[in-house]
Amino acid sequence: MKYLTDYRNPELAKKILEEIKKTVTKSWTIMEVCGGQTHSLVKNGILDVLPKEITMVHGPGCPVCVTPLHLIDKAIYLAKEKGVILCSFGDMLRVPGSKESLLEAKAQGADIRILYSPLEAVQIAQQNPDKEVVFFAVGFETTAPANALSVIHAKKLGLKNYSILTSHVLVPPAIENIMEDVDAHIDGFLAAGHVCTIMGYWEYYPLVEKFKIPIVVTGFEPVDILQGILMVVKQLEEGRYEVENQYTRYVTEEGNQPAQDVIFQVFEISDRVWRGMENIPNSGYRIKDEFAEFDAIRKFDVQLEEAEENPECLAGEIMKGIIKPYQCPAFGKKCTPENPLGAPMVSSEGACAAYYHYTNVFSSPKK
Ligand code: SF4
Repeated sequence: MKYLTDYRNPELAKKILEEIKKTVTKSWTIMEVCGGQTHSLVKNGILDVLPKEITMVHGPGCPVCVTPLHLIDKAIYLAKEKGVILCSFGDMLRVPGSKESLLEAKAQGADIRILYSPLEAVQIAQQNPDKEVVFFAVGFETTAPANALSVIHAKKLGLKNYSILTSHVLVPPAIENIMEDVDAHIDGFLAAGHVCTIMGYWEYYPLVEKFKIPIVVTGFEPVDILQGILMVVKQLEEGRYEVENQYTRYVTEEGNQPAQDVIFQVFEISDRVWRGMENIPNSGYRIKDEFAEFDAIRKFDVQLEEAEENPECLAGEIMKGIIKPYQCPAFGKKCTPENPLGAPMVSSEGACAAYYHYTNVFSSPKK
């Protein structure tokens, strides 16, 4: 609790805000990579109090939002047509597939279970030897160790009825992709603190050099976010571009080595398609051949036609910081949490959901 109260301290937040105001002299656009940071920014009203020179845009760090449409369709197909027990984090359930969501499939009788850990899915596989159990393993580097561990654990137990449907994506290639997009104009980044807790921040040095942008590893509480913004603004105003670490209470340069060892025991780096964006080279993990029996894609021959994204959903442009959620014509009209056209409107880390729930963008000036 200490960290929560300290990092939500309004007096401390005000002091940092004053320092930001004193420091900034030019207009800067800063992207927070992680959807958790987006929600903290919006929910805590930080966007409303930042000086007008600072524009915050919202990055692709919402794992549910970037999970490709065809994988959601495959998960639904496995649950409905192949009779598997499909296990998933709750966040995934309301995300629209091409025809329906996992929640709708569950309502029609598919055995879809919401879990808090992939190790629970391994347990379900042990308890149901006559059923196939598939865990929908989505996420950034943060969730990869637990998903890899579930595979190692299942192998040790000799389970033949457990596999994972993987959509793991990586932050550094996404930053590179955004910086290379001619329509995105980002001056600095708040990197995602939890990803760096696992991976460290050494991976960001080449990006800082290549694009001459500050990257500050940042936490999620209001004081963290304000301090991260201040550190980026100071670098920009002083003409520096460095990797700095605001989240020192958890993040080290090298990261969590045992967690990285577990990841690379099971996964290897591969190209990945990001929903709303595109195929980004070396931007994800796939399961190594020696663990192929635990790869749901290789285990089940699912031949589904790849459906087209809803053309009205501008999620890709939002996740690259090109537009804000309220600039999508469907926002709050055709697209609402009750009737989402895209994942960012229903994910707990989605930028559209953050603006819909915590701002009055329909009546107040836009930030
Ligand atoms: S408001 Fe809805 S349709 Fe528009 S980008 Fe967000 S999720 Fe997609």
